Amino acid sequence: MFFTHDTEAALGFVAALADTTPEASDSGDDELATQAQLTALLDAWKYSGRRDGGDVELDEVREVRTRLRELWLLDRDDAADAVNELLAEARALPRLVRHDDIDWHIHATEPDAPLARRILVEAAMALVDVIRADQMDRLRVCDADDCESLYVDLSKNASRRFCTTRCGNRMAVRAYRARAV
Ligand SMILES: [Zn+2]
Ligand SMILES: [Zn+2]
Repeated sequence: MFFTHDTEAALGFVAALADTTPEASDSGDDELATQAQLTALLDAWKYSGRRDGGDVELDEVREVRTRLRELWLLDRDDAADAVNELLAEARALPRLVRHDDIDWHIHATEPDAPLARRILVEAAMALVDVIRADQMDRLRVCDADDCESLYVDLSKNASRRFCTTRCGNRMAVRAYRARAV
């Protein structure tokens, strides 16, 4: 295990959320355009706590999506500043919790805080771990020409370049064709 389980899960969720943009999604569409799409994403990641289900919440989460994508790509020092700012702004208060079938992990917001704030703070807490471990370069964007998908490189030698093997294969075919002409 590279990071703790809750950190890896939080990073996975951030990547999934950020990858709903047209530049990164499988469909090429904005996959966070409707309330139903937000619900599906939250359910897929077993996201606990308050959900209002209105347009306000959807807009706030879409805004957070943009912020988190930017945060993902910062260098370590800038990321540290951004995380500090974000935790202060959200008045984050870390505590250990155990709920559903998930063993002790950190929450830094109340379960009834607005969804967008909880997503932001959970991401910030995961980044605290990544920054402390000096692993910001594990947070990557896919190397494929036409893909902006985010992923966490958990490979042993930090050598992963593509979000999926699909992108890897696609680029390998392209490179092969380029050599063949
Ligand atoms: Zn939890
Ligand atoms: Zn990709």
